[in-house]
Amino acid sequence: MHFFKKISDLQAYLNYQRSQNLSIGFAPTMGALHQGHMSLIEHTNKHSNISVSSIFINPTQFNDPTDLEKYPRTLEEDINLLYDHQLNTLFTPPVEEIYPAQGIHTPDFNFGRLDQVLEGVFRQDHFKGVAQVVHRLLEIVRPDDLFMGQKDYQQWTIIYHMLQQMESEVRLHMVPTVREADGLAMSSRNRRLTAEWRAKAPYIFRLLSEAQENYTLRPIAEICDQAISTLKEMGFRTEYFNMVDGYNLENVTSPEDHKKVVACVAAWAGEIRLIDNVILKEDHTFSF
Ligand code: AMP
Repeated sequence: MHFFKKISDLQAYLNYQRSQNLSIGFAPTMGALHQGHMSLIEHTNKHSNISVSSIFINPTQFNDPTDLEKYPRTLEEDINLLYDHQLNTLFTPPVEEIYPAQGIHTPDFNFGRLDQVLEGVFRQDHFKGVAQVVHRLLEIVRPDDLFMGQKDYQQWTIIYHMLQQMESEVRLHMVPTVREADGLAMSSRNRRLTAEWRAKAPYIFRLLSEAQENYTLRPIAEICDQAISTLKEMGFRTEYFNMVDGYNLENVTSPEDHKKVVACVAAWAGEIRLIDNVILKEDHTFSF
């Protein structure tokens, strides 16, 4: 595995690979890696000649300083996992490489309401930070293919629109969510759950699965309200449990009128904020 901290060294290596006509696939992460991230690496390895991943905890996407401070940092374990999964190139830049003192230019992207709904209601400027860092990393790595998880469905959608606005040729791939055996979506934050909350956390996926079974049979509002009540009874603090259009992320009332429908949830399990989603209705006419 090739390991770089400096942009100039990474670029010298990747420029050489590009000159050999090798394709570059990129999977950015914030570390504290788990099998969900490894699935991204496996997809990247399979699809591209040179798989590149980054570990960078991006300060500009954290709206809560405590969340940033407590974000798990497990670099040594991460490196071992990536090595075991045959990653070709790891980039772990310090903050000054990504955000140099002289500043960086990020285009003024317009996401319409995409960054105002769901997460956008509860995490002010979060997606501005995400777009900023992904734009910066793309400028540095210049991949042919970019791999991101369905787990962060809204993030994926926003990056898709960012690439379109940039008229970028980078192909964006969606990697399905990897779950624990009990259904809990894998997340770096899961390791901060108490034993009590870890036991309750799979309920989130159970309710999403129930929504999948029922969304054509019962009124959407009723299913969502019931899910929120069940989570409340269990002690979760739910921020949203919505069924949305898979493209514009607006709430749906009649799923039959939409090509793609996704159920999305964010709920606090004690001190830990969990998000998850399930694609209820897939649009098989759309391909990347
Ligand atoms: P993060 O390190 O949380 O910023 O995530 C880095 C990438 O891994 C993002 O594209 C996430 O959507 C993706 N990811 C995180 N958790 C999972 C999961 N359980 N399954 C698949 N992809 C995931």
